Amino acid sequence: MLDMHMHSTSSDGTYAPARLARKAREAGLTHMALTDHDTVDGLAEARAEAKSLGVAFLGGLEISAEYQPGTMHILGYGFREDDPALLERLAEVQRARAERNPRIIRKLNDLGLDITLEEVAAASGGGLLGRPHFAQVLMEKGYVATRQEAFDAYLAKGRPAYVDKVRLSPADSIAAIRGAGGVAVLAHPLQLKQDDDGVAAIVEALVGEGLQGLECYYRNHTNGDTEKFLALARTHGLIATGGSDFHGTNRPGIALGTGEGRLRVPPECWEGVVEKLKESD
Ligand SMILES: [Zn+2]
Ligand SMILES: [Zn+2]
Repeated sequence: MLDMHMHSTSSDGTYAPARLARKAREAGLTHMALTDHDTVDGLAEARAEAKSLGVAFLGGLEISAEYQPGTMHILGYGFREDDPALLERLAEVQRARAERNPRIIRKLNDLGLDITLEEVAAASGGGLLGRPHFAQVLMEKGYVATRQEAFDAYLAKGRPAYVDKVRLSPADSIAAIRGAGGVAVLAHPLQLKQDDDGVAAIVEALVGEGLQGLECYYRNHTNGDTEKFLALARTHGLIATGGSDFHGTNRPGIALGTGEGRLRVPPECWEGVVEKLKESD
C-alpha cells in the first residue's frame, strides 16, 4: 500500500515526522512520501524512521501557489533537499507567514478575543504555525465549540480575522521544485474549484510551465474523478500520483493509505516519479 501525500507537525499535521512514519507502518504502508506545506524540515527525521521500519521513503513538499478562486497546491518529489535556491524560496514564504500570524492575532484582539501568539505557538508544538493552531486555541479557550467553527466565524477567507497570504506563482512553484531536481505535480485538482474544461485549461497552462504530474488518486475522489484525471494526465504525458493528504487528528475520518476509505494508490504512481527522477539525472 502506497501513500504519497501526508503532513507532519513540520507543517499542519498532528504527528511528528518519526511518529508519522510509525503510523504509516502500522497502517500497512510499504511506501510513503512526506509532503509538508512549504517546508522540508521534517524529511530527514521521517526518512530515518521509515528506513528503520523498512518503509520506502520519498522526500516531498507541497507548495501553496497564488491562485483564485480555489486552492492550487503544487507537490514536489525527490528534489535535492539542501538546494540553496529552493530553500531560499521556502524561507521567503515562511517569512511572509511569520508576519501574517501577528496580524491575525491583532485582528482577533480587536474583535475582543483574548489570545496571544505565545499560546498559538504552544499549540503548534514547535512546528510551522498555521490557522489550525489558532483554531485550536480559540476552541480551548471556549470562544468556539469546534475548530471548524473557529474558521467559519473568524479565520476563513472573508471572515473578520482573515489575513491574505503571500504566495509563489504557479510557475515559480514549479520552477523551484524542478530547479532542485525534483518532480512537480499538481495536487488535488478538484480543489481548483473549476469545471472540467477549467481544470483542463489550467493543467495545459501548467504543463507549459514544466508540470510533470497530476494527483489523480486522492482521499475523496470517486472512481469517475480518478478516471477523468487519468485521461487528462495521459493527454499531456503527465505521470499520475496519489495520496490521502493525511493530517492526523486535525482531519478526522481520513486514514493513511485509504483516505476516506476508497483510496488505493497503485504502485505505478511511485514508479512514475522514480522514472521521472532518473530522466532528469
Ligand atoms: Zn493541498
Ligand atoms: Zn496536503
